[in-house]
Amino acid sequence: MDRIDAKTRSALMSRIRGKNTKPELSVRKGLFARGLRYRLHDSRLPGTPDLVFPKHRAIIQVHGCFWHGHEQCKLYKPPSSNVDYWTTKIARNKANDYRSSTQLDEMGWRVRVVWECSIRGQSADRLEAFYDELADWVRHG
Ligand SMILES: [Zn+2]
Repeated sequence: MDRIDAKTRSALMSRIRGKNTKPELSVRKGLFARGLRYRLHDSRLPGTPDLVFPKHRAIIQVHGCFWHGHEQCKLYKPPSSNVDYWTTKIARNKANDYRSSTQLDEMGWRVRVVWECSIRGQSADRLEAFYDELADWVRHG
């Protein structure tokens, strides 16, 4: 039988799928505070985008640097064990990211990727400035 309760399991799964991560929650809070409203993890759109702003035809994807293979990033350390497994997995994630952002683009959505490293470890001042700029991008492109 199942040894973990539904809530714990759902939290675990969402961490595995990279939904509701700390950087994502930070972005959501920053944009909400700037008056923007969004849909989350909309499975009707290619790649189930993290934040969808229907009114502005804009999408923000918050990407973990490891899972999405952020190149030349200090948070992305190539794995030292199970190298084949991780290399394949990350390459597949990147291919999926590319495909869904191309599809969204063709559907007339503007797509922006926010990397974990632009959130994690930044000072409060820098984050505020970043969210000002991000909110401006959502509204005006
Ligand atoms: Zn990064």
